[in-house]
Amino acid sequence: MKKPLHPQYGFETLAIHAGTPPEATTGARSFPIYQTTSYVFEDADHAASLFNLQTPGFIYSRLTNPTVAALEERLATLEGGRGATCTASGHSSEVLALFALMSPGMEVIVANKLYGGSINLMGKSFQKFDWKAIFVEATDPDAFRQAVTENTRAIFVESLANPGGVVIDLEAIAKVAQEAGVPLIVDNTMATPALCRPIEWGADLVTHSTTKFLSGQGNAVGGVVIDSGTFPWLDNEKFPSLSQPAAEYNGITFAETFGNDLAYTLYSHAVSLRDLGSTMSPFHAWLTLNGVETLALRMERHCQNAQRVAEFLQGYPQVDWVSYAGLPDNSFHQLASKYLEGGAGSVFTFGIKGGYEAGVKLVESVELHSHVANIGDTRSLIIHPASTTHRQLTDEQRVAAGAGPEVIRLSVGLERVEDIINDLDQAFQQLQQ
Ligand SMILES: *Cc1c(COP(=O)(O)O)cnc(C)c1O
Repeated sequence: MKKPLHPQYGFETLAIHAGTPPEATTGARSFPIYQTTSYVFEDADHAASLFNLQTPGFIYSRLTNPTVAALEERLATLEGGRGATCTASGHSSEVLALFALMSPGMEVIVANKLYGGSINLMGKSFQKFDWKAIFVEATDPDAFRQAVTENTRAIFVESLANPGGVVIDLEAIAKVAQEAGVPLIVDNTMATPALCRPIEWGADLVTHSTTKFLSGQGNAVGGVVIDSGTFPWLDNEKFPSLSQPAAEYNGITFAETFGNDLAYTLYSHAVSLRDLGSTMSPFHAWLTLNGVETLALRMERHCQNAQRVAEFLQGYPQVDWVSYAGLPDNSFHQLASKYLEGGAGSVFTFGIKGGYEAGVKLVESVELHSHVANIGDTRSLIIHPASTTHRQLTDEQRVAAGAGPEVIRLSVGLERVEDIINDLDQAFQQLQQ
């Protein structure tokens, strides 16, 4: 069931204010970039209590930094979580999200409709840690249930899957995770908390590539893991890093010392960031803080523009199909109405007549659209996944991920919508010549 995000302020207000009070010594109103690596200890006792995690504070920016901490607080607030850990990229957020949960031989059940890079990361590179990713049909909650074993340690899905436009039945999959006694991790990059807040539907952890809509202007690579603070880690044998004395941190038992609400986020800073080193830079945190201030406005316009472009393409003679959950005849329309507030996002795919060849030619014929491997920019972006982002996958994986030879992906930007539509129209006309 849906719970309110915050009793006091609305989403737009929190997106501007959460985590960033006026700076205490100068009164600076826009939050400063603390371009700093280290912080002076008051004395040896203060240093010891910081290292013992008894006193909150800053030690070294691989672990925590004031600007990064401001972004963490803001993103945790917007997702309705208890704490957050920013990372150097979206991919490093996926590794960090699982680091506290997994050990060699353990399994994570993963939706088969994911960002192509995540399929590579989990399907291939995780094998080097002896972490096993079990891929299941994203649209079938029962497939998740059937994949559960005693070695399952997490379930990982995207709320709105990139690039297929698949809307996941979060509530049903959260139920599977709860029955299995493992956290549900939701990559909420494409929906953003402006459209969907997975924790309200039962997710335990939320990840983002902040590179996309959160920073919003294509200028800062980053990621984040947000913890709901409600998963029962205490005395939980499945998760010894949190429930037992951690050899990796002086024998502290994180869940006992910090409680279920803070154990995961403190472990992520004190151990995961300390050892993996996948830290977000203060400058990227600052760019992202600024981007997030306009998130609600941007997402509203992104969705409106995408809806118009999808409707244009649906009637177009050279287009076979359009997969946008905002269209009433789309098979995910109902799930989108349930889980996505205010629109079906700005990224979607369509199938071009003429397959691979036509797809390559279209991306070479646009002018206003940029042919790039990114989404969530103010600018309209286009890509042919089969020849680019999903190139490293097998044919079978490509089709399963919604990236067959005829598929074009758009990330509809914030330009005047007529200009976006006209650009696609002229590119299609070039194909006919
Ligand atoms: C881009 C993306 C990622 C990877 O994020 P990076 O910031 O590029 O490392 C992960 N998941 C989704 C859904 C993405 O769109």
